Amino acid sequence: MSHYTQEQISNMVDGRLDWDTTLRMLSMPKDGERFQMYVQALQEKTGMKDQIVLPLGPHLYIVSDAKTKKWETKCDCGHSFGDYRENWKLQANIYVRDTKDAMGEIYPELMSPDTRWQVYREYYCPECGTMHDVEAPTPWYPVIHDFEPDIETFYKEWVNLPLPARA
Ligand SMILES: [Zn+2]
Repeated sequence: MSHYTQEQISNMVDGRLDWDTTLRMLSMPKDGERFQMYVQALQEKTGMKDQIVLPLGPHLYIVSDAKTKKWETKCDCGHSFGDYRENWKLQANIYVRDTKDAMGEIYPELMSPDTRWQVYREYYCPECGTMHDVEAPTPWYPVIHDFEPDIETFYKEWVNLPLPARA
């Protein structure tokens, strides 16, 4: 679990940068067609049976479960982190880099942050081991709950598309 390379971390960051671009793209009002195409492409890429409601990251999605129609946060391997309104990070495997050695795996010597002031928390899928997020908080900071997206408003007013099935 602890043996992740600089390259893997960089790829994760690249994924996040892409995601930022995506968010900027999606925040252009009334761009439903583009959003639809994007979700369709993701649907094909991941091969998930569940309908993607909203991508949260390169491998993490809010989906409408194919059977139950409940909205859940899922890894693209199919693992469910539970109801989409809950903090999925609390259901993830968490690896905390809070020592010089652990930081040394990703930072050159003398470049790593002082772990008295900053740690890395990495969140992994318990099933397939994909890293879904990295936080760099001060050690005493609680697990960060990412934004809870207002999906209804997003579909209705931003992309102007029908809301996916919901139980
Ligand atoms: Zn997974």
